[in-house]
Amino acid sequence: MKVGKIVNIECKCGFLLFRYFKAGKGRIIKCFVQRMENDFVGLEGMETHAKPICPNCAKDLGIMMMIRGQLALKLNQGTIKPIRI
Ligand SMILES: [Zn+2]
Repeated sequence: MKVGKIVNIECKCGFLLFRYFKAGKGRIIKCFVQRMENDFVGLEGMETHAKPICPNCAKDLGIMMMIRGQLALKLNQGTIKPIRI
C-alpha cells in the first residue's frame, strides 16, 4: 500500500472538484488524472493544453499536460482553495 492520503480539492467558490490521492507531503501543484478517486469535472479524455473550468462558476482550473506519459492537470493556484495537508 502506498503512503499518502485522499484530499479534497475545491474551487474557491466552494465546489468540490476532485478527490485526489496525494502521495507524500507538500503543496499540490499538479494532479494526475489516474490518481483521482473522484473527478467531478470530467478530466478523463481531455487533450493536452485543454483548460478545464469549474462546473459551478466557470473559472479556469488550470491546464492539462502530459507528465512522464500521464495526463495531469497543472492547477491554477488562484482558483483552487488552499489545501491543508
Ligand atoms: Zn468554482
